[in-house]
Amino acid sequence: MAGDRRAARQAAVLARCEAEGLDGLIVQSLPNIRWLTGFTGSAGLCFVGREGTVLVTDFRYAVQAPQESATVARVEIDQSNVWDRLFRVLGADAGKIGFESQIATVADVERIAAGLRSRPQGTKGLVEGPRTRKDPDEVAAIRAAVVLAEEALAELLPTVRVGETEYEVAARLEGNLRRRGSEWHPFPTIVASGPRSALPHARTSERAIGRGEFLLIDFGAQVDGYCSDITRTFVVGAAPDEKQRVVYDVVDEAARRAREGVRAGQTGKEADALARRPIAEQGYGEAFGHSLGHGLGLEVHEAPRLSPIAEAILPDGAVVTIEPGVYLPGWGGVRIEDDVLLGTDRAEPLTGFPRSLTTLG
Ligand code: ZN
Ligand code: ZN
Repeated sequence: MAGDRRAARQAAVLARCEAEGLDGLIVQSLPNIRWLTGFTGSAGLCFVGREGTVLVTDFRYAVQAPQESATVARVEIDQSNVWDRLFRVLGADAGKIGFESQIATVADVERIAAGLRSRPQGTKGLVEGPRTRKDPDEVAAIRAAVVLAEEALAELLPTVRVGETEYEVAARLEGNLRRRGSEWHPFPTIVASGPRSALPHARTSERAIGRGEFLLIDFGAQVDGYCSDITRTFVVGAAPDEKQRVVYDVVDEAARRAREGVRAGQTGKEADALARRPIAEQGYGEAFGHSLGHGLGLEVHEAPRLSPIAEAILPDGAVVTIEPGVYLPGWGGVRIEDDVLLGTDRAEPLTGFPRSLTTLG
């Protein structure tokens, strides 16, 4: 496969293990397994070690797993117990083995200790760290997911009407996404109208959209496993009123400043301040209660974070969202969310859907 980075990824993770005094890492996170081996199944275990990478899965993937991963991993299929198979492959002297603290349950850790007859060591971010820098194929997949999402939204907007429910709008948007080839919805589509737009993580509901109300749509597409994540806020059935314009402009300006100012090499906290400061200066600081953005890739929320407490440096080549919002309980809210590719001298916008305040219906 041209541009196949999987062997290099495994080597990078092994180097990180060795830097922590480990002989290998048991990987249970499915996005991490996919990134390391290409395996797209819903169950499996992976081990990265000096003797190579092992992928253990079950009968359901007996055909698929070797097709996806045999060139970069020893693939083992086990009918009865994937853990026992992994321990047999690793043998009696596997050395000091790490596990993923954020994934492994207490039962998993006890099982590993019993199976390897040595205490495993918890680790954090050994795979997620290298995963933050996207290679060209990964960026291409995210770009494709962005294009697909923007086309699906463009098809939806002329059809939105006053009086239909949030569910109806979400159903058409999700249909548009699937017909265009989105593998799945990376997260539950948010269609939130009127006062419900003030709920930053609103669930789409049976509420009918009223005339002159905000309609906030937050959704994404998935291509080759990679996600896009976009939010736009509209007004339905009437021109926006004065307050809607004012609040929208505050968010729009903050989002623009953050998109244009964010860089690799900043801390997540510095990036967050690019949008938080102008919103606070306009008197809406209390109304922007969530963080500015998050990394985007095989997972819709991954490292790095852009937030007031994020001290980590944003890496060159990461794809992140920029999504400031202002939420006024009982009245409504505005969020504008875009995806950008971070470089050291600029951030390249991946999303380009129009941001001017638009009336639908
Ligand atoms: Zn979103
Ligand atoms: Zn997001």
